[in-house]
Amino acid sequence: MEVSKPFLRKKFAKDYAKYYEVPLFRQEGFEHRVCEKCGKGFWTASGVHSCGDSEHEEYSFFREKPRNESYASFWKKFSDFFSRNGHEIVPRYPVISRWRDDLYFTIASIVDFQRLENGRVVFEYPANPLVVPQPCLRFPDIANIGVTGRHLSGFMMAGQHSFGEKGYKRDKCIELNYGFLTKVLGVKKEELTYGEDVWALPDFSAFGPCIESFAKGSELVNSVFMQYYWDDGVKDLPLSVIDVGWGFERLLWYYRGDQTIYDATFPMEVAYLKKNAGIRETELTKKYNRISSSLDVENVHSFHEEKNKIAGSLGITVQEMEEEIAPMQALYAVADHTRSLLFALADGGLPSNTAGGYNLRVLFRRALGFVQQYELTDDYVKLFEMHARDLKPLWPELEESLEWIKPILENEEEKYAESLKKAKRMCGSVVRSGKLSSEKMAVLYESHGVTPELLEAVAGEGGCEIDVPSDFYSKITSRHLMGEKNAEETLVVNAPTTKPAYYDDPKKTEISAKVVQVFDDAVALDKTIFYPEGGGQCGDRGFIDDARIEDTRKTGGVILHCTPLAKNFRKGQKVRLKLDVDRRDALTRHHTATHCVNAAAREVLGPHVWQCGSRKEEDEAHLDVTHFEKPSRDQLLLIEEKANQFVLEAHPVRVTEMNRGEAEEKYGFRLYQGGGAIGNRVRVVEVEGVDVEACGGLHRDNTSEIGFIKIFGAEQVQDGVTRLRYAAGPAALKKARSDQLLLEEACAQLNVSKIDLVNSINRLFNEWKERGKKIEKCSDVIAFDEARKLAADKAAVVKKQLDYDADTLQKIASECAKEKDCVLWNADGFVVAACAAASKNDAVALLKTAGAKGGGSPRFARGKK
Ligand SMILES: [Zn+2]
Ligand SMILES: [Zn+2]
Repeated sequence: MEVSKPFLRKKFAKDYAKYYEVPLFRQEGFEHRVCEKCGKGFWTASGVHSCGDSEHEEYSFFREKPRNESYASFWKKFSDFFSRNGHEIVPRYPVISRWRDDLYFTIASIVDFQRLENGRVVFEYPANPLVVPQPCLRFPDIANIGVTGRHLSGFMMAGQHSFGEKGYKRDKCIELNYGFLTKVLGVKKEELTYGEDVWALPDFSAFGPCIESFAKGSELVNSVFMQYYWDDGVKDLPLSVIDVGWGFERLLWYYRGDQTIYDATFPMEVAYLKKNAGIRETELTKKYNRISSSLDVENVHSFHEEKNKIAGSLGITVQEMEEEIAPMQALYAVADHTRSLLFALADGGLPSNTAGGYNLRVLFRRALGFVQQYELTDDYVKLFEMHARDLKPLWPELEESLEWIKPILENEEEKYAESLKKAKRMCGSVVRSGKLSSEKMAVLYESHGVTPELLEAVAGEGGCEIDVPSDFYSKITSRHLMGEKNAEETLVVNAPTTKPAYYDDPKKTEISAKVVQVFDDAVALDKTIFYPEGGGQCGDRGFIDDARIEDTRKTGGVILHCTPLAKNFRKGQKVRLKLDVDRRDALTRHHTATHCVNAAAREVLGPHVWQCGSRKEEDEAHLDVTHFEKPSRDQLLLIEEKANQFVLEAHPVRVTEMNRGEAEEKYGFRLYQGGGAIGNRVRVVEVEGVDVEACGGLHRDNTSEIGFIKIFGAEQVQDGVTRLRYAAGPAALKKARSDQLLLEEACAQLNVSKIDLVNSINRLFNEWKERGKKIEKCSDVIAFDEARKLAADKAAVVKKQLDYDADTLQKIASECAKEKDCVLWNADGFVVAACAAASKNDAVALLKTAGAKGGGSPRFARGKK
């Protein structure tokens, strides 16, 4: 049997008493009805015939004079209610969801408590029931933001969650919902309707009924009951979850009764921008605000068409609307985008051209584009400061982050200005060339940073019109939503799981084991001391009996020892393992060094630095960190100094296995530097006082065992990612020695001492340049001389081989052509033809008569025989 949402809707509707009804409905006089407009079931206490969905009804909660309630004070009202009713209020999680491999941003409060184990979602929650003020970022609606009066890229989902048997059920959930809506938000019972619907994951691995609360045309909240999964029928999930994601800004908007969600959410920022840009509220803007909340740009064919329509319904021309309405839409968008960026940057996100960072760049450029186009402010950073101050009562960390967010903004602004210059040049030709598909626009945007707004502006200046598709932003942002965050594919091999004995006793270098499976070029054992490649640490080498092990890899739970002599082994055979100790030594030095370099980079460059890749080999290692520009030489030296200081201070390195929840609570999400799937148990590597990471690798017991760390290079491997290259211990010595050797060789070549090397090179280089100039002069003299000789020739066109280099030959030809046409060539087959200004000959044709291929102008051509 096929399962689908319509199927479940029908099934649940038929049995609504079982799936939706709660005692409160009867107690408060709600009766069950079927909506006249959409056919869904709903509950009403006033006998209305429509379920109250905003698609059926216009907003009617606006107040002539909005209530004066701040974001922070309204949060207090909200959280007090739930705290009084037995909920623990837990601190927010980051908006960059590093604990989830399949997501870049935290898109809903429930994401906080979800972990992936072998591709399955499991729950990890610090309290039950709980409420979390979770900022979320979503990007598909960018085109709507500022335009519709109700769309945001960043919003707080006040998550009300209850898990399993120890939590509460639907009855209690709706009781709380009713209590909050009527007592705190002030919704009258008669205005309230409860709509019945179905919530489901796309693969139906979880689904359940959901009850939507509507009042005055607004969908206030959706209470979701995840309690089933589909397996040839409806089955109970092992853990049922109540997921109520209160859209906090939407509640505040309803409570205050402003014209738009932006006026309700960040009134100060909006007022600041309006004042600064001299935008006043007029009858027209008021009228626009009233209709804007029913707009949905994503659902129309094009911005252009939509603008026409809006202007029509306001009774004005598109141009009038552009002048009065567009700046207001822009400032709303700017207020939203800056707040979202503040969250993302404070939590370590960086604008870039890949993955989630891409969406941040889109936000930044759209905001800055509007600021410049409408001259909204000459200090947009002030908006970040204002948001941080507003939100300080909830999240003081935002204000603390401003200090290191500012350089990121500055850098991003420079990048924007650069690509803008490039874009303006490109734009002109693209616009002139006519039709623009959204694909082509996306390419322009992605590779050159050309926003559709800029395209429109350039087109307008050139007197032509282009039509930007309304789904432009949603297309490009969804394309970059996940980027390279893909789960690794694992090869399934047929062998029993290997016991990783390298964890039990990392010092052991020899053990006996039993062969459990033999493959073409690898052997699997019952246990091993060989560390398989993982977490950036290369695989161990050594011997199994007499067979040389060239690499060790892991697939699933099976560890494979790679050797061309695999076929010499047989299943059941007892063998002796001998580890390549020097290699292991180097690998562990490099691994512990990597944790130190990571901590040092964070200290020197700023808290936005996160590890996003690493590799520890025998002779060197590298670490990729998020940073917006290539670190300066001084910064690199500081990082090196800091890392070596950690070595000299001799910090102990402790490895502990603990429960995931416990580890997260103790160390926070800094743990997840490497990313990757996190199981129920976490191996925590703590370099005491320096760094804590969830890490599966092998380490030294103390940083003093790392030895000297030498950073020998840094490069930008992609936008926003810096690769630091270094070596530690004997490998560092080797690197330093080879550098020294190079230096000595250079000195020997020039026969100077090290101290004089740079001066000598400078002197030589200057001499070389001087000589070049002299040679140039000589060749001018030669050319003049030779040309005079040629001009004396009797032939109408001089044809002659002259053995000079190509440059001189061209000079001779030019000089000669002042008097006489010529074709000249040298022994290398280079041919040049030149004709006098008054000549009837064509240089390209002359070139051909000499049997050469090439080209040029009628006066001068060159080629090759
Ligand atoms: Zn309806
Ligand atoms: Zn590690």
